[in-house]
Amino acid sequence: MSVTLDLSRATKAPAAPAPVNLSGLTRAQLTATLVEAGVVPADKARMRVAQLWRWIQHFGVTDFEAMTSIDKATRTALAERFTLARPEIVERQVSNDGTRKWLIRTGPGIEIESVFIPGVGRAGALCVSSQVGCTLNCTFCHTGTQALVRNLTAAEIVAQVQVCRDDLGEWPSPKEDRQLSNIVFMGMGEPLYNLDAVAGAIDIISDGEGIALSRRRITVSTSGVTPELTPLGERTQAMLAISLHATNDALRDELVPLNKKYDIAALMAAIRAYPGLSNARRVTFEYVMLKGVNDSPADARALVNLVQGIPAKINLIPFNPWPGSPYECSDWGTIETFAAILNRAGYASPIRTPRGRDILAACGQLKSESEKVRASTRRKLAAAE
Ligand code: SAH
Ligand code: SF4
Repeated sequence: MSVTLDLSRATKAPAAPAPVNLSGLTRAQLTATLVEAGVVPADKARMRVAQLWRWIQHFGVTDFEAMTSIDKATRTALAERFTLARPEIVERQVSNDGTRKWLIRTGPGIEIESVFIPGVGRAGALCVSSQVGCTLNCTFCHTGTQALVRNLTAAEIVAQVQVCRDDLGEWPSPKEDRQLSNIVFMGMGEPLYNLDAVAGAIDIISDGEGIALSRRRITVSTSGVTPELTPLGERTQAMLAISLHATNDALRDELVPLNKKYDIAALMAAIRAYPGLSNARRVTFEYVMLKGVNDSPADARALVNLVQGIPAKINLIPFNPWPGSPYECSDWGTIETFAAILNRAGYASPIRTPRGRDILAACGQLKSESEKVRASTRRKLAAAE
């Protein structure tokens, strides 16, 4: 028996590991990474990390050479081992209403969408994604038709903010008159199924020595992952938004299937217990207006009853259609009647005007082309890069 030894694989040089990107690390991770690499001695780490942090998160630099307060030898050592590069922007679209949308690629088959909407919040809100795709299948949501590809890392969430600020020219962090004043976790994915990364990202973007966005200007929207509400509040002190959309279990089971697991009563109890909830820190209820489905005056009255006693705002969202969607948006008059009932009961209920419709950037319209690929295929793609 003859045996042929195939040496072709063995002779191929192994691909060098990609340098670690420092721009999405928490302070603790940054410290550990620098000390471990021997670039910074442990006893000097605190001071060095404070310096680096300011360059990365306050000035937004993407080149170690720009860090003029750091000596040349250290800058060179950093550049040899690490990177600050932004991810690739596959597509950038600007709507005729000023809304901007980016498709960002952070790895093979990993495409993330984020949307900046001027005139929302204090000045402008960035809608960030927490996952590529979603495991939940809300029937009115385009993302819900896409399988979950994977959770995003904290760095990938922070990168969305950094890309937006690059585009707005908003470095170093302005003290006032910011264009990007609010962050909403209302892009692709269910943030409470990725709480560790979401909490890490919020730590980075709210750090006072960096991007310095107040936690009160950061809103996390959930379809109702009830057991994670208290951990969310305790870990992030973020503002809470709940995608309610229906006031009885039969209808909510249909629209938001997660309701079968955590019903309305359980959800409302968890909301009432949300850490820090007060008149100054209200929960936002989101309610998508679906023609003939959940938009009657009786539904409006049921909504008032349901949220009674909770410091709340109600956001009515006109349904944004997408190709093949099974619903229609309620008529304008119906939405106004609905809003008037809420207003009479004392709830400010702004009707969220759809933004960026021409570039499919409105709520629930995000669906990337990323498909779930087998891990083995992903490894092959990564090796080929
Ligand atoms: N998964 C989270 C956050 C992302 S969705 C959640 O469900 O809350 C952000 C908001 O957009 C949610 O309130 C969601 O219900 C709403 N939404 C989804 N599809 C929509 C559509 N086609 N039209 C209007 N709003 C939609
Ligand atoms: Fe997922 Fe939110 Fe869309 Fe539901 S509405 S499918 S939870 S992204």
